Amino acid sequence: MTLAGAKSDCLFCRVAAGEIPSTKVIETDDVLAFRDINPGAPQHVLVIPKHHVADSVADLRVADEGIAGLWASLLSVVQQVADSSPEFADGWRLVTNVGENGGQSVFHLHLHVLAGRRLTWPPG
Ligand code: 5GP
Ligand code: ZN
Repeated sequence: MTLAGAKSDCLFCRVAAGEIPSTKVIETDDVLAFRDINPGAPQHVLVIPKHHVADSVADLRVADEGIAGLWASLLSVVQQVADSSPEFADGWRLVTNVGENGGQSVFHLHLHVLAGRRLTWPPG
């Protein structure tokens, strides 16, 4: 795995590059948080590495170079998202979908941060 690189045919690479407009919530050097276009809750934010690090979390290996730093960066932004609105005060959910059965539709590693209503469990 390499932490560099972009896929020109990848939707979230294009969002990260600014080619597709998004509503940004947090941006750092290596991570972007933006609002989901089809929100499943009053707060629904997607957190992505700007580079196409992996198609999903299933493609990551703990031995990969830079993985610890990447996860720390993602977690830091998730926590900043959770601090960005009072709607997170009563709780929130962090989700990453993998593959067909997981309901994944965009194959660029991303985390969903959801809040603002009582979320059901188990998910559908
Ligand atoms: P997945 O289904 O892969 O876990 O999540 C992909 C998410 O990306 C979905 O919740 C979907 O609504 C969102 N999405 C798809 N296309 C776009 C887009 O062009 N802009 C934004 N902001 N979100 C998108
Ligand atoms: Zn990508």
